[in-house]
Amino acid sequence: ILRVTVAPVVATGGLAAVLVTLRDISQVEHAEEQRRDFVANVSHEMRSPLTVLAGFIETLKGPAKGDPVATANFLDIMEREAQRMSRLVSDLLSLSRVEAEERVRPRAQVSLSEVVRATLAALRPQIEDAGITVDFRDLPDAPAIPGDRDQLVQVFHNLVENAMKYGASGGRIEIEIERQEQSPGFPGPVMKVRIRDFGDGIDALHLPRLTERFYRVDGHRSRTMGGTGLGLAIVKHIINRHRGRLSIRSTRGEGSTFAVVLPVA
Ligand code: ADP
Repeated sequence: ILRVTVAPVVATGGLAAVLVTLRDISQVEHAEEQRRDFVANVSHEMRSPLTVLAGFIETLKGPAKGDPVATANFLDIMEREAQRMSRLVSDLLSLSRVEAEERVRPRAQVSLSEVVRATLAALRPQIEDAGITVDFRDLPDAPAIPGDRDQLVQVFHNLVENAMKYGASGGRIEIEIERQEQSPGFPGPVMKVRIRDFGDGIDALHLPRLTERFYRVDGHRSRTMGGTGLGLAIVKHIINRHRGRLSIRSTRGEGSTFAVVLPVA
């Protein structure tokens, strides 16, 4: 998109020239359009739980008043919707925090082995509830990498949670940490963490857009699993901040592997 401005240049004695400026505003327009989409998406995502809550409050005050079975049932639904909204708000806060910090390189020395173990410990109850087996191939003497520990925990939390949500129920998740002396696009050695599930898989056409905010392959599935559509966007920004790379390999019906590659120095 080109913006054209024409300005007369007036010298004493009359018009001397016309100054024509061409400016490429595609980037600005694109950013503006993305911002508009984002606001529209957030509003939409907030409105649906609110509509459900308002509807059930109305019913509880009117037709279902004094009915204990209906009341218990509706309160469960209302609780789920309130939790959904609260997850959305906390993901939005995380996203804006990681976006704001994206240019500041993290300095602390972090052990990825500790990060993955802490993530799995925090998710333990959900993993057990779902009857999932996690096969973790650790690398205990792996070198520490420059990083932000809590943000890296968030990366693996989101990826393992997705592997649980979209993996086969009662199935298996494989996690592996390895060191590679070289990796395309990196000047030195890297650490690679792979998270593999044996679930739905993702059609290739979706892969390039998967880390966009609110992009979902199946909106209904994501929402019923409690997803906000922001998890992978948060992951992408944190990995960018660490000058790393996220690669996704997936086969429909067989499962997916999400690999996080992070530079050692
Ligand atoms: P959500 O909150 O919807 O899970 P994410 O940003 O974490 O949002 O993921 C975006 C979409 O990518 C999901 O809605 C889902 O369609 C797809 N997806 C993510 N991880 C996996 C996976 N391991 N297997 C299959 N699909 C996945």
